[in-house]
Amino acid sequence: MTVAARPPADVPVLIAGGGPVGLATAMELSRHGIRSAVIEPRPEVAWLRPRAKTVSARTMEHFRRWGLADELRDRSPLKVGWSSDIVFCTTLTGREVYRFHEAFGLGLAGTDRVAEPGQQAPQPVVEQLLREVAAADPNIELITGWRVTGAVPDRSSESGSVLVTAEPIGLAGGPAHAPVTVAADFVVGCDGPRSVVRDRIGAARRCAAATRSPSAPRYLSRAPATLSEARAGKTRNATSVPASEPTTVSARRNSSRSGVNVPITP
Ligand SMILES: Cc1cc2nc3c(=O)[nH]c(=O)nc-3n(C[C@H](O)[C@H](O)[C@H](O)COP(=O)(O)OP(=O)(O)OC[C@H]3O[C@@H](n4cnc5c(N)ncnc54)[C@H](O)[C@@H]3O)c2cc1C
Repeated sequence: MTVAARPPADVPVLIAGGGPVGLATAMELSRHGIRSAVIEPRPEVAWLRPRAKTVSARTMEHFRRWGLADELRDRSPLKVGWSSDIVFCTTLTGREVYRFHEAFGLGLAGTDRVAEPGQQAPQPVVEQLLREVAAADPNIELITGWRVTGAVPDRSSESGSVLVTAEPIGLAGGPAHAPVTVAADFVVGCDGPRSVVRDRIGAARRCAAATRSPSAPRYLSRAPATLSEARAGKTRNATSVPASEPTTVSARRNSSRSGVNVPITP
């Protein structure tokens, strides 16, 4: 077990954030013989925070490479046969409107399109598995209950290392340790949407609030109410948004999820 109580004084790679990306990075580095330390504030996996529920076929191929695909499938509460359709209903127990069969790439077993089909698995299940594997890996130090607060180049180091500061999160009973500094050859920012590391390297996310095309509301207004009505040639007036007004609220939501266009400025 290498769940450390506090960050090490130095490490080849410091990974800020022990979500799926941080833990996967640590595992991948370990397979190349590279040691890393993962600093993650949450002492336990957050079981009640709603996030991912589908692991795509491409991600499952990584799990296969790590020897974890079968284990993840075993731990997943929804087996493939129960979860490969998307069903639209009027209410949870109401009339079925439309159904996509074999969505999510879950039913690709036996085809030559993927090495490993997708799987429905709640994100906490994925994170718990990755945490256990990381904790058992001698190349990975998993430090929970700490957060990264800063990262600066070490001017005194010829090798160009980075000084990362971290502090314990304020758990009940108060912090157990004072803030520490870790010297790392590399720092990987996997600390989510409000990333400290991204701030420190000056990476800015540039995404303007795009407006919806004026044609969109007209398109919506012609949207069929249900599949059966569509088959019958009926349509429903589905929106009250005037054609000339941009729907900036939903456009902003879309743009904030886009995750593209992330220039790194010096
Ligand atoms: C409702 C919802 C549904 C989704 N559905 C899917 C889906 O079906 N399939 C899919 O593939 N994706 C889905 N996603 C996206 C998926 O959840 C994210 O892509 C994924 O969580 C990103 O992983 P991550 O490790 O980059 O970031 P995160 O999961 O955000 O992890 C970041 C980690 O960094 C830690 N952290 C934060 N600040 C610091 C700090 N200062 N120092 C150190 N650590 C820090 C956090 O505690 C956290 O553990 C969904 C997301 C949401 C919100």
